[in-house]
Amino acid sequence: MIGLGIESTAHTFGASIMSDDGKILSNVKDVYRPPEGMGIHPREASRHHSDVAPRVLKEALRQAGVSYRDLDFIAYSAGPGLGPCLRVGATLARFLSAYYDKPLVPVHHGIGHIELGSLLTGARDPLVLLLSGGHTMILAAHMKRWRVFGETLDITLGQLIDQFGRYVGLSSPAGPQVEALAQKGRKFIQLPYIVKGNDISYSGLLSAAKKASRKEAVEDVAYSLQEVAFSMLAETAERALALTKKQELMVVGGVAANKRLREILEKVAERHGSRLYAVPQEYAGDCGAQIAWTGVLYYRSGVKVQPESAFIQQKWRIDEVDVPWRS
Ligand code: AMP
Ligand code: MG
Repeated sequence: MIGLGIESTAHTFGASIMSDDGKILSNVKDVYRPPEGMGIHPREASRHHSDVAPRVLKEALRQAGVSYRDLDFIAYSAGPGLGPCLRVGATLARFLSAYYDKPLVPVHHGIGHIELGSLLTGARDPLVLLLSGGHTMILAAHMKRWRVFGETLDITLGQLIDQFGRYVGLSSPAGPQVEALAQKGRKFIQLPYIVKGNDISYSGLLSAAKKASRKEAVEDVAYSLQEVAFSMLAETAERALALTKKQELMVVGGVAANKRLREILEKVAERHGSRLYAVPQEYAGDCGAQIAWTGVLYYRSGVKVQPESAFIQQKWRIDEVDVPWRS
C-alpha cells in the first residue's frame, strides 16, 4: 500500500509518497520565506504554495517512481494552520481524490509530527514534546487520544524564537539563526521564567528579551532567551515524566532541531531513567512525510472521508482527535 501526503499548514508546501512498511519513497518540499524582519503573510504564503505545488507534487511522484493511479489514498494536513495555506493543500487533495477516485484522509498536523517521529526514532509509547511553529505541548497517549500534560498558555516556543528573531532583524523562521547567535553568547541576562501549574507562558519572556536587546549584545540575549525558555520546558517535562513514568521522551517539531535543547532534554530523560528520542533534523520541520505516514495509520484503521466532505480546521486541538492505533 502506498499513499500521498500533502502538507500546507504554514510556511511549507510539501508532498511525500510513503509505503505502509514505513519507507519514505519521496519527500519534497518548498518553504516560503518572508522578507527579512517580517512574519508569514498568509496570503503570500498561500500564493507561494499554489505556485510551487505542481512542481513539488510532480517531483514527489517522479522520485518515488509512481503515478497518481498507483496510490491507495491521498492524505492532507487539514489543520491547525493558516486558512489560506490549508485551503491550497485541501483543494488539491480533494481534486486528486475525486479525479483519480482515491480515498481521502484528513490529518491533524501535530499528529503528523508525532507519528513520523515515532516511526523514525522507534519510540513506541513516549512522553512527547511537540515543539512546532504552532504547538508547544507535552503529551502522552491514553485511551486512544493524545492527552495534554502541559502546554503554553500564550505563544509557542517557535513563535517566541521567531518573533524575537524578527525583532532583531532576522527572517522567519529564525530558529537556526537564533541558535547560532546563542552559541556566541557568554553573559546570562535575567529574563522572566514563568511556569503556572504545569503550563508555561512565553509572552512576558518575549517582551523582556526584546527590551534587553536594545541595550545588551544580541548574542547574550539570544543565549539567555534560549536558556530560560528551554529550562521552563524542561521543568514541566520533568514533572510529566515523574507522573507518567514513561521510559521514552520524544521531541518532535521544528524546534527539536536545536542542539542546546536536545542537550538539556538528554539530562532530563537521564534523571528519570528515561531515554531521549529526537526526531532526525531533516524531518523535524513540516513535511509531507508526516502526513503520508499518518495517512497510512488512519487508512489502516479504516478512517477516510469522501472528497465532498474534505474539511479544514484552522484551530484544532490535538486532544480532540481520535488516534485509533494508539493505546
Ligand atoms: P515546524 O512548524 O515544525 O516546521 O517548526 C518551525 C519552527 O521551528 C519555527 O518556529 C522555527 O524557528 C523553529 N526552528 C527551526 N530550527 C530551529 C532551531 N535550530 N532552533 C530553534 N528553533 C528552530
Ligand atoms: Mg509544524
